[in-house]
Amino acid sequence: MSAASTQTYYRELCDLTRARLGGLHSPELLIRSLDFAGIEALQMKGEWEAAGAILNDEAKALERGGAGLIVLATNTMHKLASQMMNGVTIPLIHIADATAQAIKTMELRMPGLMATAFTMEQSFYTDRLVAAGLNPVLPKDADRAETHRIIYEELCRDIITTQSEATYVAIANRLVEAGADSLILGCTEVGMLLNQGNVQVPVFDTTLIHCSAALDHALE
Ligand code: GLU
Repeated sequence: MSAASTQTYYRELCDLTRARLGGLHSPELLIRSLDFAGIEALQMKGEWEAAGAILNDEAKALERGGAGLIVLATNTMHKLASQMMNGVTIPLIHIADATAQAIKTMELRMPGLMATAFTMEQSFYTDRLVAAGLNPVLPKDADRAETHRIIYEELCRDIITTQSEATYVAIANRLVEAGADSLILGCTEVGMLLNQGNVQVPVFDTTLIHCSAALDHALE
């Protein structure tokens, strides 16, 4: 979620599978695309337990449906990863772990993080990066608020503007000035505005990294 990034996941998984296996190969997927309005309402009310219960039902349904592994296609909702996986026996490919691994492989240590306020300000995500040996750099208050606003008011609604791209580029530049040696696109929609073409430091797009990690696992 949102549906905007679900489409990116599907496209990327198809492209990666074709690139790795060739020919007519395509990924076998069960996509459970939720109505994001209901989830966002629970996020805003802080009703995380209720959101986690929904995710847990969905994960169980995917396992019953024959899934061999689970990809939770959002950074923010990884806050609820353990509740979601309660009673589920297939593995979860954790987006933060896959991202941390990719950063460490390039011997970078201080990634800037652009994500929802939940992901930037609560500890469930940054703790995971720190545990992996990274030292994440967060945007200042106003930049965090604007990053979050653009995600929910624009990107999750499939709205892309040059003005917001310029805003995101400026925020990314300020993270580099603050010492970031790389940038985590820590929300699955941020890649709609930022990429290696408009950011000065190595970019780690969690959506693309997550898809690649899932395919690695599936092909093992
Ligand atoms: N897709 C976003 C993320 O990666 C935000 C939407 C959500 O809250 O799930 O965090």
